[in-house]
Amino acid sequence: MKKRPAFPARIDFGRDNAPPEVLLSATKVMTPSNQRGMDKTPKPLVPQNKPSGLGLDSKAVRERMVDKLIAQGLDDEMVLKALRAVERHRFVDTALVNQAYEDTSLPIGLGQTISKPNVVARMISLLRQGRNLLITGKLNRVLEIGTGCGYQAALLAEVSKEVYSIERLKGLHEKALSNLAQLSLQNVHLIFGDGMLGHPSAAPYSGIISAAGGDTLPQAWIDQLDVGGRIVAPWAQDGSQSLLVIDKTNKGLERQILEPVHFVPLKSGIA
Ligand code: SAH
Repeated sequence: MKKRPAFPARIDFGRDNAPPEVLLSATKVMTPSNQRGMDKTPKPLVPQNKPSGLGLDSKAVRERMVDKLIAQGLDDEMVLKALRAVERHRFVDTALVNQAYEDTSLPIGLGQTISKPNVVARMISLLRQGRNLLITGKLNRVLEIGTGCGYQAALLAEVSKEVYSIERLKGLHEKALSNLAQLSLQNVHLIFGDGMLGHPSAAPYSGIISAAGGDTLPQAWIDQLDVGGRIVAPWAQDGSQSLLVIDKTNKGLERQILEPVHFVPLKSGIA
């Protein structure tokens, strides 16, 4: 019997049965039952070669999106490079492809949204301003709460050594698996589970970033953050949401509350 490949691993479909761009990266799948490494049977990924609808122009359109973000003040070169590299149109429904590079949030199904590029870029650069960068300038391990369609996870993969991303809605977890299967990312691990509990088996993290906001910050995130690490998350207070930045230092936690934001609510449990 053929031995199952260890994960993360690359599955090469060969020249005959798949076009080269469908070289599938085996994004590691974790479910609540295997979050502690119990279940050794990752779900197979189905490669989907979604038509882009943007054709060869997508690079130029993405470049224009990045130019606008630079004009708005974004100056983190590593984040800009990631935004140029990751094809946002591959993460949205075909009907919305033409809006993929506008600075707007877009529906991704099940009542959830992919955030505006400038908010995603701002949050990732804030995460990188924590004190815990590797010699390569990248973050070490990052935990993302709220995988959604997987776009931010793909950006995080460009600026971090390893990305662990949790989604509580099965339908979106599966959508992200399918979207990310198109990219050859070896360092993204998708988990189906409740992100309010963090993901202890890969802790400590040098960064934790949430795409959903509640009125309390789960203690698990603080516990699973490395000293020198940073949490960036929306935080609801008096009916409005702001960006919250927490740094874990040798002396304790440092907190900053920044500009207002609009994120979907952080919910507990899975569905
Ligand atoms: N980063 C995503 C944005 C997704 S929107 C992207 O690039 O597409 C935020 C997501 O957070 C939603 O999919 C929502 O289901 C998820 N979410 C909310 N509470 C959660 C929780 N406790 N654990 C995991 N995911 C959660």
